[in-house]
Amino acid sequence: ARAAGLPVAARAAALPYLDPSLPVATRVTDLLGRMSLDDKVGQMTQSERGTTSAADITAYRVGSVLSGGGSAPTPNTPAGWADLYDGYQRGALATPLQIPILYGIDAVHGNNNVLGSTIFPHNIGLGATRDPALVEKIGRATAEEVTGAGPDWTFAPCLCVARNDRWGRTYESFGEKPEIATAMTTIVDGLQGSRLDGPASVLATAKHFIGDGGTTGGTDQGDTQISEAELRAVHLPPFAAAVRRGVGSVMISYSSFDGVKLHGNKYLITDLLKGELGFTGFVVSDWAAIDQLDGRSGFTQAEVVAGVNAGLDMIMVPTDWKTFVGYLKAAVQSGQIPLSRIDDANRRILTKKFELGLFERPYADRSYASTVGSAAHRALARQAVRESQVLLKNAGGILPLAKTGGKIFVAGKSADDIGNQSGGWTLSWQGASGNTVPGTSILAGIRAAAGSGTTVTYQRDGSGIDSSYRAAIAVVGETPYAEGQGDRTGSMSLDATDLATLSRLRSAGVPVIVVLVSGRPLDVAAEIGNWTALLAAWLPGSEGAGVADVLFGDYAPTGKLPVTWMQSVSQQPINDGDGKTPLFAYGFGLTYAPTQPDPTPTPTPTPTPTDSAPAGACRVRYTTNDWSSGFTGTVALTNTGSTTLAPWTLTWTFAGGQTVTQAWSARVVQSGAAVTATGEAWSASLAPGATVSFGFNGSLSGANPRPAAFSLNGATCTVE
Ligand code: BGC
Repeated sequence: ARAAGLPVAARAAALPYLDPSLPVATRVTDLLGRMSLDDKVGQMTQSERGTTSAADITAYRVGSVLSGGGSAPTPNTPAGWADLYDGYQRGALATPLQIPILYGIDAVHGNNNVLGSTIFPHNIGLGATRDPALVEKIGRATAEEVTGAGPDWTFAPCLCVARNDRWGRTYESFGEKPEIATAMTTIVDGLQGSRLDGPASVLATAKHFIGDGGTTGGTDQGDTQISEAELRAVHLPPFAAAVRRGVGSVMISYSSFDGVKLHGNKYLITDLLKGELGFTGFVVSDWAAIDQLDGRSGFTQAEVVAGVNAGLDMIMVPTDWKTFVGYLKAAVQSGQIPLSRIDDANRRILTKKFELGLFERPYADRSYASTVGSAAHRALARQAVRESQVLLKNAGGILPLAKTGGKIFVAGKSADDIGNQSGGWTLSWQGASGNTVPGTSILAGIRAAAGSGTTVTYQRDGSGIDSSYRAAIAVVGETPYAEGQGDRTGSMSLDATDLATLSRLRSAGVPVIVVLVSGRPLDVAAEIGNWTALLAAWLPGSEGAGVADVLFGDYAPTGKLPVTWMQSVSQQPINDGDGKTPLFAYGFGLTYAPTQPDPTPTPTPTPTPTDSAPAGACRVRYTTNDWSSGFTGTVALTNTGSTTLAPWTLTWTFAGGQTVTQAWSARVVQSGAAVTATGEAWSASLAPGATVSFGFNGSLSGANPRPAAFSLNGATCTVE
C-alpha cells in the first residue's frame, strides 16, 4: 500500500476510472477511452532517473522510471528515496489524466539499493536452503524495505536456471534444476503479498524470459542453442509457476534462442508466455535491449516496431528515451504497429497500476522506513545464511569448532569484507570490496561466536601463523561482479592472493578450514586435499554471523548443493544427470555428527528435505513399452501412501548399458487431469490412491533403455 498523505491534484469528480468501487477492468476501459496516443506511448516508456526530471514525466506522460544499479538519491536513505519517488509521482499527477508512475528498482537480495538495508544471501545460497517458506519471508521483508523507500516495483526474482557455472549471473539463479526455481517462486507471494493493494506490496518481475541460463559457453546475453522441448522442460517451469502465482511483470532476456533475439521473438513472448501460459501482466524489456534487435549499433524505428509487435509492453531505457517516444508514435501513425497492440500493452500496464492501488495512494508509505535494516530483518537474514551453508568436507569431524580454549587464526581477503560477502548488486551494479554496507563480517561473527575463552587472531594474508593455533580459518573466493563482467572463460580456480594466503596457513601445519565466498563452484580439486574442511558460504550478504553459527555448531548445516560441483573446469557445463562424475554431486551436503574420513570420499547425493514420503509409497506401471529408439514411453504413477503429496517430485535412474542421445530434459509430456505443471516438480497435490500418467520423450538405445527404478519424494516405487 502507498500513502495518500500528500495532496493529489484536484480530480475531476465522478470520472469512472477514478472510482475505486468499480471493477479494475471497467476502470481501465474508461481510462483507455480518454487517452491520447501521446498518453499511450508514454505509458509504454520507462526512463532512467538520471535522464528524467519530474517535468519530463509531465511533458512526455512517462509511465515508469527506474533506478539502474547504483542510481541512488542523496542522501541514500529511505527518506531520500521517498522524496525522490514522491517528486516523480507529483510530475505524473500533473498530467491531464493523473496516471501515476511505476518506479522500478533491482531489489534482488533485499532492498540492496538503500544504504543500511538488510542484504540477504544471493539466490544461489537461497537455492541451497531448499526452504521455500523462508524464501517467501525474505520476499515479504524485502517488500517492506522497498516500500519504506518508495518504489512499488522490483526487477526480481531472477528465475534463471543456470546450466553453466562460467556464466557471471550464476549467483542470481536458485540452481541448475527447474524444480528449485519453481519451488522458490514463493518469493513472488512474499513480494506481492496476498493482494497487490495490501500492506507493503511490491510488484514482482519474473526474469529473464527465457533460457538466459542456458546459453552456449555460459556467455551472458549469449545464444541458447537447445531444442524447444529442452527449453520448455528446463527453463519454462519456473515462469509457469510464477504466472500461476500472479506475478505482475515478466522481463525478457537479452539472450537469443537458437539465434533469434528473445526481444523480437513473437512466438515465445506472445504465443507462449501470454497465450499458452495465460500471463495477464505486462512484459518489460531489459535495459536498452531493444536497441540490439537488428544486431547493429544504432537505434532504429524498425527495432521498436519489431519489439512491440513481438509483444513487449514497456520498453526499459531505450537509447535516448525521447527518441523512442517519437519512433513509437510514428510507427503507430504509419500503421506499422496496430493500435490494438498499443491498447493491449496499455491495458496490461494500467491494470497493474489500478491493482496496486496507485490511483488512490500514489505516494511513498514512509511508515515502513523503520523496517529498512531492522533487527527482525537482520535476524531473518542470519537464519537464511545459516540454512544456505553447504558443508562439503569435514575431515576428522573438525567442525563444529569448540568454543572454549586455545587459539584460532583467521585469514583471507573475504574474512573482514562485507562487500565481498554481498557480491554484485549491492549499492552499485557491480558491487565492491570493502565494508561498503553495514552488517557483520564473517570475522566479527567468528569473534562473537568463539567466546571469551578462545583467542582469535586475524591477519588478512595469513602471515604470522605458527603451530600454536588449533586451526586456521581461511575465508577466500570471488570478489564482486555483475552480469557479463562476471563471465569466466578461462580458469575458475582461486586467485593468486588466495593461493598465497592458503600456502602460508598450510606451512604452519595446523588444520585449515576453508570458507568459500563465491557466486558459484570454483575449481578447487588441486587444493582440497590440503584442507581439513570446506564450507561453501556462497554470497551470504550482510549477516556474516550466520556463517560463524555453522562453524561453531550453533546451527548444524542443512544446506544442499543447488548446482553440481565440477572436478575440473574442463567439465563445464556439468549438470546432474549428464553422466559426468562431479567432485560433489547436486544435492550433496554434510552435516555434523558422523566423523568424515580423510581424504575426501566420493560424495553421494543426500535427499532434499522434501524427500519425506514413507518408503514404498508409490507404484509405477509401464503403459507403453517401446523404449527402443526415439521413444515416447508412458508410465502410470500411483501414490500408494497415506499422505497427500504437495509438491511431489518423481526421480528415476537407469540400470546402465543404454546410450542417451538426447538429454533427459524433455520429461513430462502428458499429465493427468489433476496435474497442471510440467517439469520435475508439480504444484498440484497427489492424493493417496491417485494415479497420474506421464511420458518420457527422448532418444535412447542399447541394453536396458528404459528407467530401472523410480522414487516419489525419495520413497522407492514398486515397478510393475
Ligand atoms: C539486467 C536486469 C536488470 C536491469 C535493470 C539489466 O542490465 O539484465 O536484470 O533488471 O539491468 O537494472
